[in-house]
Amino acid sequence: MARYTGPSCKECRREGCKLYLKGDRCTSDKCSFNHRSTAPGQHGAARKKVSEYGLQMREKQKTRRYYGVLEKQFRLYYTMAEKQEGMTGANLLILLERRLDNVVYRMGMAASRKEARQLVLHGHFTINGKKATIPSILVKAGDVVAVKENRRDGAKIKANAEAMATKNTPKWIDADAANMSAKIVALPERDDIDFEFNEQLIVELYSK
Ligand code: SF4
Repeated sequence: MARYTGPSCKECRREGCKLYLKGDRCTSDKCSFNHRSTAPGQHGAARKKVSEYGLQMREKQKTRRYYGVLEKQFRLYYTMAEKQEGMTGANLLILLERRLDNVVYRMGMAASRKEARQLVLHGHFTINGKKATIPSILVKAGDVVAVKENRRDGAKIKANAEAMATKNTPKWIDADAANMSAKIVALPERDDIDFEFNEQLIVELYSK
C-alpha cells in the first residue's frame, strides 16, 4: 500500500505546526520545528497572503498528514463521511480516528502513527483474536485490539508495553498495558480528538 516516504519534519514545516509524526523526538528539544518553523523551499520564509482556497487546502493537507493518509484514501473517507448522518467534517475525523494504526498509537503501543502502521503491517496485532495486518481497518465499539500472543516477547513490543503503562489514553479506549491490549468502549466523538482541526474548511474544499 502506498505511503509517504519523505522527511516527516518537512511536513510539519509545510503545515506550520507540529504534527507529532516522530514519537518521542517531537516532544524533545531535538524537534526541528522548534529551531526552524518556516515552510520548506527557497521562498518558505517569505510572507504570503493566503487565499481562502489556500487555507482550505492547507487544512486538508494538515489533517491528511497528521493521520498519515494519502489523497485518494482521504477522499474515500470524505465520501463515507458524507453518507453518514450528522456533520460531515466531524464524521471524517471520527473515521480517521477509528483506523487501526491510529488506535494502536492512541492505546500507547507505538510512539507514532508511522510506527503503529509498521507494527500492524508486520502482523503484531489482532482484533478480537484475529490477525489484523491492514492499518486502515476501522475498529468498532466493543472490539479488542491486542498484541498477538506469539509476538509478546519481542524487545520492541516489550519496551512499547512498558511505555504504554505510563501513557494517557482517550476515554473511548480502555487500555490494559499488562495484557498488551485495549478495548474500544465506544466510538470516538469529535470532542475526544485533542488536536486543533478546522474540519469545516475541508468540507468547503470538497464541496466546491
Ligand atoms: Fe514534526 Fe518536530 Fe516531530 Fe519533526 S520532530 S515530526 S518537526 S513535531
